[in-house]
Amino acid sequence: MNTKQKRLVILGAAESGVGAALLGKQRGWDVFVTDAGTIKEQFRKDLLAHGIDFEEGGHTIEKILNADCLVKSPGIPEKAPVMKQVRAAGIEVCSEIEFGYRYKGDSKIIAITGSNGKSTTTKLTFHLLSKAGYDVAMVGNIGYSFARQIAEKPCEWYVIEVSSFQLDDIHTFRPEVAILLNITPDHLDRYNYQFENYIASKFRIAKNQVAGDCFVVNQDDPVIKNYLLTHSVNSKIIYFTMNENNTENEGGYINNERMFIKLGDEKSDMSIHDLGLIGKHNQYNSMAAGIAARIAGLRKDKIREYFVGFEGLEHRLEFVATIRGVTFINDSKATNVNSVWYALESMKKPTILILGGQDKGNDYTEIMALVREKVKAIVCLGVDNTPIIDAFGNMIETIVETKTAEEAVMAAYSLADNGDAVLLAPACASFDRFKNYEDRGAQFKEAVRNL
Ligand code: ADP
Repeated sequence: MNTKQKRLVILGAAESGVGAALLGKQRGWDVFVTDAGTIKEQFRKDLLAHGIDFEEGGHTIEKILNADCLVKSPGIPEKAPVMKQVRAAGIEVCSEIEFGYRYKGDSKIIAITGSNGKSTTTKLTFHLLSKAGYDVAMVGNIGYSFARQIAEKPCEWYVIEVSSFQLDDIHTFRPEVAILLNITPDHLDRYNYQFENYIASKFRIAKNQVAGDCFVVNQDDPVIKNYLLTHSVNSKIIYFTMNENNTENEGGYINNERMFIKLGDEKSDMSIHDLGLIGKHNQYNSMAAGIAARIAGLRKDKIREYFVGFEGLEHRLEFVATIRGVTFINDSKATNVNSVWYALESMKKPTILILGGQDKGNDYTEIMALVREKVKAIVCLGVDNTPIIDAFGNMIETIVETKTAEEAVMAAYSLADNGDAVLLAPACASFDRFKNYEDRGAQFKEAVRNL
């Protein structure tokens, strides 16, 4: 009998890679971790503490090409030279959620994807289940990786935030409940600039589902609706929508300012004003989370009680302060045009919009009407603001350029009147001027507090 240990190679030593390494080591694999950059101290400590072999600052190809299985961090693109060699060698490539899935035992999974709203819906679903006393963990892009959670503290339920990059390398991953919130163009640089590829990637969340599983989808999303006209899934589709008067079919509905969730014969019903979060987008997220929680067995009479008091995440339409009548809102996580649409849609006051950063090829057409209706002035905060000035120059009289969060806050404040709002919703990535979106949001809040 061949008792040779199987070799697991992991590309990229951040949370998902290190999580997979810990789980692999625990389950008897010969594990090797390789990272082309510098490994963060916390992750290096994890690897050392568990006696896991690793390298950083480059890849030793002969230590990689002898892998039986390779786990690739979601951040590494297929076009990276090392990936080309791995593919040419025919090695099995898994994402970390796929690797974790193989060791999940009898636990059950609610997996959440979409272009926007993943983190919020994941946290909300986790909140509902944990309030109800479930043995549940929130993992994926939020919190620990799925693999680490399984290695360190396995649970009966996992609520997993799943990106399209994680879905690209699944083979058997099968959530009992899959949620697809919406699909709008994002990350197209990773999909050969083909929107169809990105759409197909999102739908992979349901690819291994079987009859008895549920696929919870947004009926109002034209991309999702179209795709389902020509593609079938094996699971039961449960829709949520704001555009139906009949709330008797199974699904989620917003009607006359009330949220209904109908599952089997049971229907729950609550005012949208009792939801902890504002904005239409959060009503969608709430329907999705509510349906998932009901499928997981939450009692309908408890749903309202658990929704009340849910607090959103930092940097998502987060109220910062009202200073001399001017309200400041931090939506630094609005890194694409669609999320800015929802931010503006929820604004009730004349708004000074802080926009800009690293442009991912934005098309601003979608927000033109809302900008015309609600925005008094635009404060740009990117290195290259040409796309914004080109898009809005004819429509908005005052567009100013700034270089730091502090300058942007000062400029916006001086343009605002009592009763106005200042909204940071950049529609762009932050990396041209900030470490990440959290850093941008934190600097914005700090500048507001210093006014
Ligand atoms: P993700 O994890 O998918 O990036 P987040 O919950 O972190 O989603 O929210 C990202 C941004 O999108 C925030 O600006 C938030 O206000 C906005 N947003 C949240 N949910 C939705 C939704 N369902 N549709 C559109 N935008 C949303």
